[in-house]
Amino acid sequence: MTPRPAAPPPLAVVQSLVNTSELLEDRDDLTTPAGLVAWAAAEGLPCPARPTQADLTRVRRFREALRQLLGGAAGGVSTLNGELARTGTRPLLQAGPLVEFTGDDTTALDAAITRVLTAVLTAGLDGSLRRLKTCAAEDCRWAFYDRSPNVVSRWCETSVCGARHKMRAYRARRAATTG
Ligand SMILES: [Zn+2]
Repeated sequence: MTPRPAAPPPLAVVQSLVNTSELLEDRDDLTTPAGLVAWAAAEGLPCPARPTQADLTRVRRFREALRQLLGGAAGGVSTLNGELARTGTRPLLQAGPLVEFTGDDTTALDAAITRVLTAVLTAGLDGSLRRLKTCAAEDCRWAFYDRSPNVVSRWCETSVCGARHKMRAYRARRAATTG
């Protein structure tokens, strides 16, 4: 389901991570080591060759904290700040010019999570982070990039989740008037 054009860089990777799980379709690409390796490869991110169950749990927890952040909830913030502290990496400028992240005892997963967090921080500083949102439908929560001038979009796709919401509101009104 890609109803809107993908978010521009650097947020594209954040959107991609959040949407590795699709609630409406009961799909989650990050439940197996192979799934995590494939996603990281597609995004050009470092990844352990053989992710452990702990790695998978950590990434999914990180992903859901991001989903909460994009949805405007405060719940995910402590997890995200915890990861900022935990990865123990620091940025290092390289000729190219490139930015690399290094640190003592850091793993490929630390580096991948740092890359995603850096995208969040960068977009937070330039103001574009508020355009990356999650769908207002409780059972959807798909991440979409809101290109509307006043940043007022609520649904991943108006014709899908917006229409479902209207239908529910219509049924509720009807039940209230006829019941
Ligand atoms: Zn939706």
